[in-house]
Amino acid sequence: MIYKNYPMVSRVVFGRGSFNQLDEILSPKRNGRNAPFIFYVDDVFKGNHWLTSRIILSYKDKIIYVPTKEEPKTSQIDQLVEDIILEYSELPSGIIGIGGGIVMDIAKAVSLMLTNKGESKDYQGWDLIKHPALYHVGIPTISGTGAEVSRTTILTGPERKLGINSDHTPFDQVILDPELTKDVPKDQWFYTGMDCFVHCIESLKGTYLNAFSQSYGEKAYELCKKVFLEDTLSEKEAQDKLMMASWHGGMSIAYSQVGVAHAMSYGLSYLLGIKHGIGNCIVFDHLEDYYPEGVAQFKQMKVKHNIKLPQGICRDLEDYQFDKMIDVALSLEPLWENALGKNWKTLATRQKLLALYKKM
Ligand code: NAD
Ligand code: ZN
Repeated sequence: MIYKNYPMVSRVVFGRGSFNQLDEILSPKRNGRNAPFIFYVDDVFKGNHWLTSRIILSYKDKIIYVPTKEEPKTSQIDQLVEDIILEYSELPSGIIGIGGGIVMDIAKAVSLMLTNKGESKDYQGWDLIKHPALYHVGIPTISGTGAEVSRTTILTGPERKLGINSDHTPFDQVILDPELTKDVPKDQWFYTGMDCFVHCIESLKGTYLNAFSQSYGEKAYELCKKVFLEDTLSEKEAQDKLMMASWHGGMSIAYSQVGVAHAMSYGLSYLLGIKHGIGNCIVFDHLEDYYPEGVAQFKQMKVKHNIKLPQGICRDLEDYQFDKMIDVALSLEPLWENALGKNWKTLATRQKLLALYKKM
């Protein structure tokens, strides 16, 4: 047995208002006047001076607003990398991602692709990256994905939706400032928060579980229950706790794996462009055979927060489309093995997946 030597985020700041320390944190990392810091910022913050006025630009530094209607594509990453190469005479001093999972993943991917030749689609998979990334910083503005701690950046390529998983992917620095999440709309708060809840359930109920994952998973699970099922927290406490739940949930799956909801949600995302958080919710809602207790709690949370999930999204699909979604879902073998054990192929049959997709 070979145990994974897991890379972690090198530095992390936590605290309300810690975003104000950004300039102080970045300054020592500047490589000169011609090596800018590039800030990718979720375009929801365009014109939001409360946030953007605190990003201090010097020399050739630049803010690039990123639309987040769609999840990142490999072609988009390649374009962003080319834009930087064409605009500047030197490599940037660092890449900073300020936003949700989409923007953080973009920052990770661009920082990797600035130092690794070729197209990003060629690095989708495990440990294909050869050179360390540029210095990169993640600043979440919504909590749940765990992208701030993970060793992957999830991209949709021409052939598949798959992460660039590597030891160079994790951020060098993360700033956890829960105040940045204060204006997240309710539905999105729920969907992205449930990503974390599903990470906990899939890791805690998986066959890959070990004491490392369990210790993080149990903590994240407990925090999620406090945030989504109890009424004891103030708004600020809930923001703080959900940010830490996301972190712990990410750490939990780092040393194990996700499961059925994620595998099937990737199918929805690939075919229909359904985003990660809401896709997980749509799938998880039907997984009582696999995760009875977790699904019952999820349904309680849905009611408590008055969340109405889309229904009938697969209603008009053709057979070949169901086939494609099933192909994508079943190709994620480690997820199924984690969920169902070594004999997963006899349990997760195409008919079973088809029946589940037809309910969604
Ligand atoms: P997101 O990045 O899609 O953001 C969701 C929405 O919330 C967007 O409309 C955004 O504009 C808005 N938003 C974000 N912060 C806000 C704020 N403070 N105020 C108001 N609105 C705000 O959502 P997400 O769920 O965080 O991320 C999903 C993405 O993360 C997917 O692309 C998924 O593949 C990826 N992901 C990555 C990992 C990883 O480990 N790398 C893990 C899980 C998911
Ligand atoms: Zn997830």
